[in-house]
Amino acid sequence: MSFKRIIVSLVAIAGLLTAAPSAKAAQDILFGGASITGVYYQVALQISGLMNKYQGENYNYVGRPTGGSVFNINAIERGAFDFGVAQSDRNWQAYHGKADWEGRPMEDLRSVFSMHPETVMLVTRKDTGIENVADIKGKRVNIGNPGSGQRHNAQDVLRIYGIDENRDIRAEGLQQHEASRALVDRKIDAFFYTVGNPSAAIEEPATSVDIRMIPLNHEKIREMVDENPYYIMTKIPAGTYRGVDYDVETYAVTATVITNRNVADDVVYDMVKAVFENLEELKASHAAFRHLNPEEMLQGLSAPFHPGAEKYYRERGWL
Ligand code: GLU
Repeated sequence: MSFKRIIVSLVAIAGLLTAAPSAKAAQDILFGGASITGVYYQVALQISGLMNKYQGENYNYVGRPTGGSVFNINAIERGAFDFGVAQSDRNWQAYHGKADWEGRPMEDLRSVFSMHPETVMLVTRKDTGIENVADIKGKRVNIGNPGSGQRHNAQDVLRIYGIDENRDIRAEGLQQHEASRALVDRKIDAFFYTVGNPSAAIEEPATSVDIRMIPLNHEKIREMVDENPYYIMTKIPAGTYRGVDYDVETYAVTATVITNRNVADDVVYDMVKAVFENLEELKASHAAFRHLNPEEMLQGLSAPFHPGAEKYYRERGWL
């Protein structure tokens, strides 16, 4: 073999080696849930599970517990998380620069889809004697940690019922998994929580002690619901939780999956596609997801759709 031919062969081999398919590193994606006993954490875990199962060569999804809606919105706006779950009312406020975000709208938020409905709830033990909202005066009541979505709902309810959170009750700011435990341990008398049903955060105390759920149906709550598109009046059906064998009238929001406009289109497209192509699997993964359907999942969102999500919805003819 001539020297020239040896060189040519070596060059060809080198070319083959560099052209050989190299294993592309899977992209890390962070998905923010909320308290470990709530339903958001299940949203983050179950969608992460689907992605790692069907798209594992491209993505490494991690579902993380967090402080809740407010925490997730702020983390997504900063780019610290790729996806997160947030209440529809908090989303609306964040995108429009209201409430916690007064004067500083979170303009980079983008909608992906809606998940399950979440009811605003006031839960107590039967032995506290609390039978209606007014009875919580003088009691120790968890209104939610500052990063949570429920805290603002609790504050709305307190205001509507004329209860001063600083003077009339002993307000606590516990994370929900701590609050459920504190109710059982008699360290608090009641907690507010906004969550999908059934939630482990209520199932756990309901199996340990006798609980009571208080209706939140004041005329002014109905007015607030009428005035805001992201609220509806609803009932938690009798039998949802042990010992609560009566319908509980209250109002509800929707859990929504959000992202940042700067997250790449194909990342959002791939996630949305995997969710809708495996919707039956997602629905079966948690009882709160049982009624999910594409039509409702495209409603109840405040920020515009992320272009990656919109592309998939247009392909399906849903937009
Ligand atoms: N709605 C609650 C929040 O915004 C979370 C409920 C849940 O974890 O399912 O913080």
